[in-house]
Formats: sequence, C-alpha cells, structure tokens
Amino acid sequence: MNFKKLCPRMVVEKVQDIDLQELKDMGFRYLLLDLDNTLLSWWSGKFPPMVKDWIEEARGSGFELCIVSNSLMKWKVKRLGRELEVPAINRASKPRKGGLLKAMDILGAKTEETVVIGDQIFTDILGGNRLGMYTILVRPVSRHEFFATVLQRAAEKLLIFRWKKKGVLKEVEGKKGIKYISSWEGK
Ligand SMILES: [Mg+2]
Repeated sequence: MNFKKLCPRMVVEKVQDIDLQELKDMGFRYLLLDLDNTLLSWWSGKFPPMVKDWIEEARGSGFELCIVSNSLMKWKVKRLGRELEVPAINRASKPRKGGLLKAMDILGAKTEETVVIGDQIFTDILGGNRLGMYTILVRPVSRHEFFATVLQRAAEKLLIFRWKKKGVLKEVEGKKGIKYISSWEGK
C-alpha cells in the first residue's frame, strides 16, 4: 500500500475555510467537489447558506466547478447540481478514475490546474491523488453515516493522527484559520 497516495495535500475543517485566492495563486482553476458530507449532510438534502456563498465566491473568482459524487441517486445529484448551477456527476465510483476524468472532460480541465475536494480519504483523496491532482480533505459535515463509512472513519482518523505526529501533515496558520499542509508531493 502506497500511503502517499492516501495523504491529502491540504486538510481544512470545512470548504468555507479553503482560501480561494491562495488556490488561484497556486495556478488552480478547476474544482471537483464531492457532495455528501462535503457540501451538505446526506440526509438533509439542503446546502447550508455558507456553503452556497462559498460556491458563489469560487465562481466569482473565476473557478469552474463540477460535482463528482459516488451517490447512486441520480435525481438527487442532478437536482443539487442544478441548484448550484454546476454540472454534476453521480455514480462516480471514486477512487476509480472514470468519474473524475469525465468531470475534467466536461470542464476542459487539465490535471495540474485541478483540485479535488472531499471528506473521504479512501474515495475522494485517493482518486484525486491517483490522477496527480491537488487534493483537499474537509471534515465530514455530519456524523450520521452508513456503517461501512463509520469503519472507514476510524481508519481515516488513525492515518491523519499518524501523519500529523510524523510531521507529514504540518500545521499552518492561514488567512482562513488553521490548516494542515502535506510535506509529501503526492506522487
Ligand atoms: Mg463524501
């Protein structure tokens, strides 16, 4: 197992803590967003107003966005995409590459200009890292989850704890608060 492929390049508390200007300065233009537990809780079906504001800010700063969800609920993913006015892919099967590649294709995005943002290491982060994209992990919006996800969370917590302890993930005080940056290059 290559642990580097699991390590997010950045860890923040929530999407609103992502410094969009910083990402722009780093040369990124495209954001591939996970849906459930990244932008909203899977049971609520509603975006918090702060998340909607952040999406608006991202669009306003010139980012192009696409939702890439592993959800099988096509109607729900499409409806939420329409609500944000961004293209939305369901059944993405992250960490497999297909869904993420499809999103890049829709946006006309290049790998080196693309950021994957999600709440799960074994799907969102691994998928993005496998394609050589920049990856940002956020904490899950909700604690209510499926049992399989609960088990994954324990493994994720252990990995994050170890990476912090070993100094792989370094604490940095950013403009939008505390974040963690990986010393690994994601390769
Ligand atoms: Mg998720």
